[in-house]
Amino acid sequence: MGLPSKRRTSTSKNNRRSHHALKGINTVKCSACGAPALPHKACPTCGEYKGAKVVNVEKRTERRAKKLKAIS
Ligand SMILES: [Zn+2]
Repeated sequence: MGLPSKRRTSTSKNNRRSHHALKGINTVKCSACGAPALPHKACPTCGEYKGAKVVNVEKRTERRAKKLKAIS
């Protein structure tokens, strides 16, 4: 099995890890309700996208509650 030929210093280790930090997700303000939403996606709060209602939020919450009830 291959072994490392030279010791990795703490500096080289830290230099490698300098790119590992996580970035926060980018959100945009919903034009209908003002809640934060992912860009190019329907708003999770009101279900609107580009001025049109594309997701029935009430039905979705109902469906999810039913699914949770079925599991437990
Ligand atoms: Zn919205």
